[in-house]
Amino acid sequence: MMSIQIEALFTTALGLLPPWHVAKVELDTAKRRIDFEVGHTGKRAACPGCGAEHQLIHDRVRRSWRHLDFFQFEAWLHADVPRIQCSGCGKTTQMTVPWAREGSGFTLLFEALALSLCRELPVSQAANHLRVASKRLWRRIGHYVQAARAKDDMSGVRHVGVDETSVKRGHEYITVVHDLQAKRLLFACPENDHRTLEAFAKDLRAHGGDPEQVEHACIDMSAAYTKGIGQSLPKAQISYDRFHVVALAQSAMDEVRREEIRSSAAAIREAVGTYGKHTLRQLLWGMRKNPAQWTRAQSEAMHWLQRSNLKSARAWRLKQALRLVYREALASNRGDVALAALTKWMGWAKRSRLEPFKRLACTLKAHLGGVVRGMLDGRSNAYVEAMNGLLQQTKRAARGFRSVQNFIAIAYLRMSKLKHLPNNPLVPAIPRDYGRYRHVC
Ligand SMILES: [Zn+2]
Repeated sequence: MMSIQIEALFTTALGLLPPWHVAKVELDTAKRRIDFEVGHTGKRAACPGCGAEHQLIHDRVRRSWRHLDFFQFEAWLHADVPRIQCSGCGKTTQMTVPWAREGSGFTLLFEALALSLCRELPVSQAANHLRVASKRLWRRIGHYVQAARAKDDMSGVRHVGVDETSVKRGHEYITVVHDLQAKRLLFACPENDHRTLEAFAKDLRAHGGDPEQVEHACIDMSAAYTKGIGQSLPKAQISYDRFHVVALAQSAMDEVRREEIRSSAAAIREAVGTYGKHTLRQLLWGMRKNPAQWTRAQSEAMHWLQRSNLKSARAWRLKQALRLVYREALASNRGDVALAALTKWMGWAKRSRLEPFKRLACTLKAHLGGVVRGMLDGRSNAYVEAMNGLLQQTKRAARGFRSVQNFIAIAYLRMSKLKHLPNNPLVPAIPRDYGRYRHVC
């Protein structure tokens, strides 16, 4: 009597409807495991293939599914799943069960929880947590992301940001396209040439968007992307984002410093004098950081650098000055102010007698309109940088299984705000402060 009540209770807890019900519950406290035997009453059922009603159950196939833990107990569902012999279509088909996808060894709720964990934790950690192999999680991420993207709506896309990132250090580049207004990842693919934008335009169309309606594209200064935008997003006005321009100044500075260390090692040693090797090491890092982030040792080394006559010191001042130009432009948010400040900086760079900066000045001049637009659009710039941070996190999350496809799938899962993913089963459907709002409507 007692036992029957418990089984009815679990039938409800698992959300099972007739003819499915929990027939037996086995609790093993030593193994911390709870096993549910799920039964199917009835001799006939509809054919899963063609839908013909009242077909004979031919035989049953034994199957098991891992379910959400019940407290500290690992929960499993087991059932003899009917196979239906159909007089309509002549086939024998295994019945689909309401708690799992066909062919999956996890219940739907377990998969939903696994997916939610993978949005917050590195996949290998989520796998440890759930006590499953991470390979099985990667398969599910792939499946659900694809299904959710198939229903994704991109009809409102007007402003995009295009960027490239390396999946493995220094090689295997992928292109990512962001919606700068909705602040989400729209598209990622393992190439970085002008055809990438063609692939994006096709994907956009497949999701209800229109490449002709994209008004604004924020990109780096690579010729490939500029060409790709012209061909595939013909109405988009291009701007070059701050993140990349400052990165170009950073590499110009690094080039000057490397060259100087290589060609005038003796002069530098003499200039450093008693400061020695330690100072040089502090300089390498200090030059790349913002003054606010300097350690005391870096701060001393940098003060020394600024009093020296080294080319590296001039290069550092130029790089810092470009940062200030951007800050000034952003503060005024006026095209004429930005253009004047940038023109002044380019003049200084051209006269600097530092080859890498002279080249950078030419590059900026050749792209002047887009560079100035990029100086004013503060929101999208900030977003491109924030996205870069998220991509770094995603790289850490994908560690251990860094196939490009896996990386792209986890990037979509975390950064696309997909609306058609399964919900986390542990989040209550009714918000906790429900009571406060219950009389409002
Ligand atoms: Zn049939």
